[in-house]
Amino acid sequence: MQRRDLAASGARLLAAALRAWVQETWEEREFARLMVIEALFSGGWRNRDTWERFGLRDETSVAGIKFRALKRLRELAAARDPEGSLSALFAEALDSGESDVHFDVAELWKRSRASCPARHWLARQAAGTLPEGPADFVRFHLGEMHCEWCQANLDDLERQGREAELEPLLGSLQASTLRYLHSRTQPPA
Ligand SMILES: [Zn+2]
Repeated sequence: MQRRDLAASGARLLAAALRAWVQETWEEREFARLMVIEALFSGGWRNRDTWERFGLRDETSVAGIKFRALKRLRELAAARDPEGSLSALFAEALDSGESDVHFDVAELWKRSRASCPARHWLARQAAGTLPEGPADFVRFHLGEMHCEWCQANLDDLERQGREAELEPLLGSLQASTLRYLHSRTQPPA
């Protein structure tokens, strides 16, 4: 395989593993773990900033979360890579940041939208009905990771929401009612 093909295949495999890891972490409702890993991998935070932000015991807790996530990512990648050549390649890159083929994990995390929630989660966030947990994550993802893609989606939903609320309301009003509503904004004749 050409070096460039190898890098592209490796990047695809790593992106798939990251998405699968996020998916299962979300299903386990481990939102704190998800935020820690996104902060480290995508945000490039240092361990000592991360443990304070998330109220963990110390830096060792962060290192432990990272260690277990990397272990699980390797398993998820290996399951998608029967020959094992690609997994070995990026396991090295994840562990030491050094490898023959360079992977920018932060860039890959963002480009593959590894942790971007589905639109229905953002819709519930816009409506204010998202429970604690996913809501904490969505706030973190938008406010601290500054995900432009989700922000654009949320803005779009909020705009649509306003239109959806107004349209049936206006459509169902009789002309006379509209005139009445209108008149309320005018000074009395
Ligand atoms: Zn996003």
